[in-house]
Amino acid sequence: MAEVVFELDKVDFAYEGGQPALKDVSLSICAGERIVVLGSNGSGKSTLLKLLDGLYYATAGSLKAFGQPLTEAAFTDDAFNFAFRRRVGLVFQDTDVQLFNASVFDEVAFAPLQLDLERADVITRVEAALRDLRIDGLRERPPHQLSGGEKRRVALASVLSLGPEVWLLDEPTTGLDPRSQSWLVDFICAQGAAGRTVVTATHDLTIVDTIADRVIVFGEDHHLAAVGTPAEILGNAELLLACNLTHEHWHRHPGQREGHRHLHVHGAPHDHDHERNG
Ligand code: ADP
Ligand code: MG
Repeated sequence: MAEVVFELDKVDFAYEGGQPALKDVSLSICAGERIVVLGSNGSGKSTLLKLLDGLYYATAGSLKAFGQPLTEAAFTDDAFNFAFRRRVGLVFQDTDVQLFNASVFDEVAFAPLQLDLERADVITRVEAALRDLRIDGLRERPPHQLSGGEKRRVALASVLSLGPEVWLLDEPTTGLDPRSQSWLVDFICAQGAAGRTVVTATHDLTIVDTIADRVIVFGEDHHLAAVGTPAEILGNAELLLACNLTHEHWHRHPGQREGHRHLHVHGAPHDHDHERNG
């Protein structure tokens, strides 16, 4: 039985001012699992990843990582904080929040420099990450001057150089060119094959099947709406419609007088089976 990495029991979270973001979320994530988190805008995906990264703490219920509660008190212990930060890496949805160093090189070197490694090891990790993300040519550039896609690759490299056991990726394909997207999909698969845990929040239904063993879906009410295999979730048109991940689509085929409606899943292949809506 694989080690349980995250265990959430009836977790609620509300932002200051009372804005609810997660309600009654119970869930376990095991080591080596590849999880995709689906949900429409504002359903709570980013909030979940921030709780898993120990940036916010459950307002009610309990959240454990590696068997230990993730509470504000736990993170005041430097040894706990260091061990946790070394094991878990979050790539933020908003890269501007993540990037703060003066150059791309410094940005990618930042995490390994915190790890008490030999200088040569730090350089090796940074060079490998710069190469993997094809950003060697940007090493002297200030991250804030880069394009959206370049920033995203720098943010990924800055976590890659840490080499975490657990990856938390928040809409990581946003702004990436097709080659980088395909690198990312391969990368997630390789991390999974190497026994790492990868939790990816995404809107891109086309990659779910490839990068997930299990899919969790948030409803617009911030509750967990479903947990299942990619086939179970992507095959459940009612669920995708109820969670605002797809919409009904009216159109007329050439040569037909009557128009009709059918469910339209953005990005996912749909086979023009129109029976449901006649
Ligand atoms: P998603 O990532 O699925 O789009 P979020 O986790 O970002 O959703 O947001 C969940 C809910 O929390 C939304 O209603 C959002 O408006 C609210 N929210 C997110 N961040 C903040 C914040 N910093 N302060 C107050 N409310 C927030
Ligand atoms: Mg988000």
